[in-house]
Amino acid sequence: MIRQYELVENVKAYDIRADEEALNRAYVFAMKAHGNQTRASGDPYFSHPLEVAGILTKYKLDSTSIITALLHDTIEDTETTSQDITDAFGDEICQLVDGVTKLTQLEMQTNQSDQAENFRKLVLAMSEDIRVLLVKLADRLHNMRTIDFISKPAKRRRIALETMEIYAPLAERVGMHEMKNELEDLSFSVLNPEARNSIISRLEFLKAEGKDNIDEIVFELTKTLAESRLRGHVEGREKTPYSIWRKMQKKNVSFEQISDVIAFRVLVETVEDCYRAMGIIHQAYRVVPGRIKDYISTPKPNGYRAIHTGIIGPGRLRIEIQIRTREMHEIAEHGVAAHWQYKEGTDATDGRQFRWMRELLEILDQAANPDDFLEHTKLEMYPDQVFCFTPKGDVIVLPAGSTPVDFAYAVHSEVGDHCVGAKINRQSIPLRTELSNGDQVEIITSEAQTPSPTWENFVATGKARAHIRRFIRSRERDEYMSLGQSILERAFHQEDYELSDKGLNEVLVVFDAETIDDLYAEVGAGHVSGLEVVEAVYPETKEKKKRSLLSLPGVAGQFGRKKKVEEKKVPIKGLTPGMALHYAGCCHALPGDRIVGIVTKGRGITIHTIDCDTLVDFSDTPERWIDVAWDLEETEDRYVGRMSMVVENTPGSLGELSMVIGKNDGNISNLKFTNRSEDFFDMLIDIEVRDLKHLSNIIAALRASKAIKSVERTKG
Ligand code: MN
Repeated sequence: MIRQYELVENVKAYDIRADEEALNRAYVFAMKAHGNQTRASGDPYFSHPLEVAGILTKYKLDSTSIITALLHDTIEDTETTSQDITDAFGDEICQLVDGVTKLTQLEMQTNQSDQAENFRKLVLAMSEDIRVLLVKLADRLHNMRTIDFISKPAKRRRIALETMEIYAPLAERVGMHEMKNELEDLSFSVLNPEARNSIISRLEFLKAEGKDNIDEIVFELTKTLAESRLRGHVEGREKTPYSIWRKMQKKNVSFEQISDVIAFRVLVETVEDCYRAMGIIHQAYRVVPGRIKDYISTPKPNGYRAIHTGIIGPGRLRIEIQIRTREMHEIAEHGVAAHWQYKEGTDATDGRQFRWMRELLEILDQAANPDDFLEHTKLEMYPDQVFCFTPKGDVIVLPAGSTPVDFAYAVHSEVGDHCVGAKINRQSIPLRTELSNGDQVEIITSEAQTPSPTWENFVATGKARAHIRRFIRSRERDEYMSLGQSILERAFHQEDYELSDKGLNEVLVVFDAETIDDLYAEVGAGHVSGLEVVEAVYPETKEKKKRSLLSLPGVAGQFGRKKKVEEKKVPIKGLTPGMALHYAGCCHALPGDRIVGIVTKGRGITIHTIDCDTLVDFSDTPERWIDVAWDLEETEDRYVGRMSMVVENTPGSLGELSMVIGKNDGNISNLKFTNRSEDFFDMLIDIEVRDLKHLSNIIAALRASKAIKSVERTKG
């Protein structure tokens, strides 16, 4: 265990501006917080955060990161709260510790490898500050170094698998190769100890055979360079068992066929020296064709730069050599951490956090693969995605701002359509709640539930929106259909015909409808009137109607009008006998209205309401005006009253409308939509009523309905 003063000295050695006082306070704070907790190894728990901090000093991270490392388990494992950390160390450190805590609470909830990529994105998305990720990686590294103390094999395996699939690739992604190699090899020893042991014993066998003569080769290469007066440092090391094993898997070859179990590195001062070193080595040894890779002129996506080459080296052994400058080497091994270290202090006016972000971008900027680049920058800089879990642990990726309804539709359309409620992290929440990274979402469904139009106001995904709209459209069509059917029944009945499928089938083509339901929907939506359909099925109706309007009421009978009408006397007093009578379409006079008759030559008398605007046209011809009044005794006649109304555009509102009218003994004879917006329909409805009082009653009943915004009698 490192001692307090050692840690502080280590930090001060590379960062003279380090906040020594805060480092000391964090040390004491964490030690006290963890008290006499112990690790599985039996060590005091505090040894763990201390080791994590120690790992980060090797990467020469700033004192803020080191303090975060010391405190990283206090919120998760002790009584300490975020507020305590803010009070003692300020907001920045509190946010970093909170970030690491969130990552710690996030465990891979599934063993499915196809989820790994999403999980890695989730970790990146949650590491709003790259230092959160660096502390988490160091935390994981120390836990892996001590994994043998965990007694349960299943738990060891789960942690190792998570390390292999999530954290090692993340370390690689931010360019920390040394970290990545160690994480992988430690996981390998848990996941496949047999394979690892056999590779290690092969390596030892090679050594025993004298074929693993690293020192000799290093000596030869150094001498070769020196003879050409190039100063360079040569080093050689065995590759990790895991990287050898992976190569065997990838190339499907045996251990014997692997040429480069030893990697040699030549470190020089400048880029120019890199190319010179390559030339010198190529002159002295035979080059293996096809092995030269120049990552200096074309760096790897994560910013890696070096020259790789393969030669038949000293002792006729095939070896691989990497040639780099020292700076390239630092960045290759320490990635984003090294990058920070090199740039630190160049621009003191910048906010530290922004510098971190920018530098990560700089690394990523060199990305050859544009997809890679976008993916990274988005996660770090534009958090426009949110990663959530199903109860089974599958990751669902959604756009930021998504709600449980989006989640439900992303799982399955059926789940979306029947969603009634949701739980986030086992708490019931309103469906409009926005999801956060790492939320576990459980959708509660009911067969009886159907999508609600209000969902459209808060969904973020196209899939959810499309399903909700499709459902509303089909629901709307159902309503139009039943409304249309009742309008047609009424229209046929009025003309003394029966509504029959046979009749309708014959005229479908006239209305460009494919099925009878289509025709009903057309009528219900007000595109086609009931009378138009009647006239199409029975063309004689049109002729009949025309005549009946123009003829004497008593004569109507000979054209086959209703018997009722035939026998009835005209319900209006004051008419000249023998004059044709009809009601003006401009005002739809009803019994109960005050009325006036206007004589038109050859057309008879037209009845208007006394307040009808049209009457202005006749003000110069008072001789045409006739005083008339209703003469009603138990009449069963129906008169058409017109209403204009504004109805909510929600499923069920049209159904409610026709139900209210029907209940009050009215018949819808016609309707027309004058305006349709997202929220409301404006419509004109003609209904058949007995008189003004009847119409007023219906209007009153409609006004009581929630779906109907306003309703007025209208004339014209
Ligand atoms: Mn920890």
